[in-house]
Amino acid sequence: MRLDKFLTEMGLGTRSEVKKILKTKQITVNGEIVTKPETKVAPENDQISYKGEPVTYCEYEYYLFYKPAGCVTATEDQLHKTVMDYLTDTVRSDLFPVGRLDIDTEGLLLITNDGALAHDLLSPAKHVEKTYYAVIDGVVTEKDVNSFENGVDIGEEKLTKPGKLRILKSEPESEIELTITEGRFHQVKRMFEAVGKKVLYLKRISMGPLQLTDDLKPGEYRPLTEEEITALK
Ligand code: URA
Repeated sequence: MRLDKFLTEMGLGTRSEVKKILKTKQITVNGEIVTKPETKVAPENDQISYKGEPVTYCEYEYYLFYKPAGCVTATEDQLHKTVMDYLTDTVRSDLFPVGRLDIDTEGLLLITNDGALAHDLLSPAKHVEKTYYAVIDGVVTEKDVNSFENGVDIGEEKLTKPGKLRILKSEPESEIELTITEGRFHQVKRMFEAVGKKVLYLKRISMGPLQLTDDLKPGEYRPLTEEEITALK
């Protein structure tokens, strides 16, 4: 990766501040003064220092990814493009997606290498809220809202936990938002199937404190802000 990007990610300042720092000849890579921002570095192998002090290599990375339809939520796949194929400019090589969205589902996916955080977010005991926007074939009714509130039978031993269903538009197709606290396989699609309806389009718009923000388009990602990381923990 570029040296100026590495230094920016490690908190030395904005890209332009880092460029100014580089001009002061206070950055060394493996003991050599480097002034060119475009110099390529390998943070795991190169010793990068500022004013003689090593620039500490970050332990964790956190990215908010806008998953597009057509890729699988996995780190490797023989057949399909994976979500990780989109994260082309990251520091660490041990990043993974937290939770799973179906191949045709779009929206918010957290990508990190923080295993403990991932475990907490996915733990059923933590009841982390996930909100989905969906287009549904047919008219979603107040009866469906009540059914979801009481939990629905999706063919498993237990009913689903209550889901908060909001109807945004009901004809000709319905647009809804649904908030659930579980992460059962194909859960949203199966909840609608249980009330005789089909999901035509599904997008996750939030998970816990994380929101899918307007700055991202499908296929794009950005690092979480410090505030977002703090809110997650
Ligand atoms: N529920 C689904 O049915 N699919 C997803 O991808 C996520 C939640």
